[in-house]
Amino acid sequence: MVAGPIHMAYILAALLFIIALAGLSKQETAKYGCLSGMVGMTIALLATFAQVGSATGFLLIVVAMCIGAGIGIFVARRVAMTQMPEMIACLHSFVGLAAVLVGYNSFLELGAIVPDTITVPLDASQATIVAMMDAAKQAAEAVTEHAAAMTPGEFNTHLVEIFLGIFIGAVTFTGSIIAYGKLNGTYKLRVFKSAPLMLPGGHWLNLAALVVSVLLLIWFMASPSVVPLVLMTLIAFAFGVHLVAAIGGADMPVVISMLNSYSGWAAAASGFMLSNDLLIVTGALVGSSGAILSYIMCKAMNRSFISVIAGGFGTEGGTAAADEEMGEYHELKANEVADLLKNSSSVIIAPGYGMAVSQAQNAVAQLTEKLKERGIEVRFAIHPVAGRLPGHMNVLLAEAKVPYDIVFEMDEINDDFENTDTVLVIGANDTVNPAALENPNSPIAGMPVLEVWKAHNVVIFKRSMNVGYAGVQNPLFFKDNSFMCFGDAKKTVEEIVANI
Ligand code: NDP
Repeated sequence: MVAGPIHMAYILAALLFIIALAGLSKQETAKYGCLSGMVGMTIALLATFAQVGSATGFLLIVVAMCIGAGIGIFVARRVAMTQMPEMIACLHSFVGLAAVLVGYNSFLELGAIVPDTITVPLDASQATIVAMMDAAKQAAEAVTEHAAAMTPGEFNTHLVEIFLGIFIGAVTFTGSIIAYGKLNGTYKLRVFKSAPLMLPGGHWLNLAALVVSVLLLIWFMASPSVVPLVLMTLIAFAFGVHLVAAIGGADMPVVISMLNSYSGWAAAASGFMLSNDLLIVTGALVGSSGAILSYIMCKAMNRSFISVIAGGFGTEGGTAAADEEMGEYHELKANEVADLLKNSSSVIIAPGYGMAVSQAQNAVAQLTEKLKERGIEVRFAIHPVAGRLPGHMNVLLAEAKVPYDIVFEMDEINDDFENTDTVLVIGANDTVNPAALENPNSPIAGMPVLEVWKAHNVVIFKRSMNVGYAGVQNPLFFKDNSFMCFGDAKKTVEEIVANI
C-alpha cells in the first residue's frame, strides 16, 4: 500500500501504540505508556503529512487540525475528572461520524457504476441514441482509476467495507450520543435517563434492524447505489439509539468500553476503505482492547455480555427500591470518627464516585499518612467499577501519591474485611451494597461487591441518604455496625485529620 519510509513510520507508530497499551495496564508504567502513545501519534501524523501531494491539501489539513486541537485543548482543560466518561463518549461519537463520512466519500469516489453494454430500443430516435451514448460516456469517465483498477472480487470486498464501515460508524455515533446523555444526567428526554428504555418488543426491534440491514447489503451488492446505503444509515442511527437507551445505569461501565471497542472497529473499517495500514492496525488495537475491557467489566459485575446488550439491568425497579424502608441508621460526627480511628489497629478505605466529586483524594492521602504515623495499618480496596470510568479511583489515588503497595483490587482484599477494625467508605454506594449478594430481587443482584459490612465498624461518608448511580437503596447504611458521617467527603476527612 504505502512504500518506503512512510511504511517504516507506520510500523514504528503501530509498535509504539502496542507498547502504550502494555504500559497502560499497570499504574507504575502508565506514564510511559501515555508517552509512548503520544510519540506514536506524532510519528503517524508526520507520516500522513508527508503523503499530502498539494499545498492546498496540506493547508486544509493544518487549518482543520488547528481548529480541532483548539477546541480539544479548551474542552480538556475545563473538563473535571468526574466528567471524563461523558467526554470519552462524546469523542467516540466523532469517530463514528468520521467512519460514516469516510464511507460515503469512498462510495462517491467509486463513481457511477457503468454497465458493460447499453441496450438501445429499436424505435429510438437518433437524438435519444446520442443522449444515451453521452450519458454512458460521462458515467465511464466518472469511474476513477481506483475503481477501474479493481478486480471484481476487490470491488465487491470494497463495497462490503463501505457498507460495514458506515453501519458500525452510524451505530457508534448515535449510541455514543445517548451514552453521553445518560452519563451527563441533565437531560429531560427519556432516552437519556439512567434507567433503561424498555420499548415493547425491544429485542425484536433490534433483530429486525439487523435483518433489514443484511437485506439492504444484498441489494447494495447486487446494484450499488446510494439508496440502500442511506436506508441502512437511518436504520443504524435508530439502532444505536435503541441499543444504548435500553441499557440500564448500572451497566454503563460496560457500555462505555463497548462503544470504545465499536469506535475502534469503525476506525479499522475506515482504514480498509482508505487503504491505510496504520488506521487498520490502530482501529484493531482499540477495537480489541475495548472488547477485552468489556469482558473484564462484565466479569467484574458478574454479567454476560449478551445480557448487557439485551439491556434492563438497573431498571426502574431500582428506583422503587430506593424508597424502600430499611429502618434506623446511626450517625457519627467527624471528631467521633477520629476517636474510632485512633482506637483501631487496621483500617481499610473503600473509595467511590463521591471521593472524585468532592476531590477528597489529597485529604484521604493525608489521613492515611497520619494513621500510618500512629502505627495503624491502612489499605485501600478498589472495586473494578468504582467511580465513573475504569481505573477512576486508581488515577485519583496515584494523583494524591498514595503508595501503590497499599492499594488492592476487590478480589485481593475482600476476604480481609472480617479481620479489620474500621472501614471508611468514602463516597461509595453501589460498590459496597450488600443487596447485590443478599437480595436476589435487587436490580444489582449478582454483582460482586466489597464486603465492607464484615468489618467491626463501617463509617460511610456521604452528604445524604440518597442512592448511588444504579438508583438502588443500600441496606449497608442500616446495619448495626454501620455509621453515617454526613457532609462533603473532603471537608469531613479534613476535619478528621485535624482531630487526629
Ligand atoms: P455510586 O455512584 O454508587 O455512589 C456515589 C455516592 O457518592 C453517592 O451515593 C453520593 O451520595 C456520594 N457523593 C456524591 N458526592 C459526594 C460528596 N461531595 N461528598 C461525599 N459523598 C458524595 O458510586 P460507586 O463508586 O460506589 O459506584 C459506581 C457506580 O457507577 C456503579 O453503579 C457503576 O456501575 C457506575 N458506573 C461506573 C463506571 C465505571 O467505569 N467505573 C462508568 C459508569 C457508571 P450523596 O448524594 O448522598 O452524597
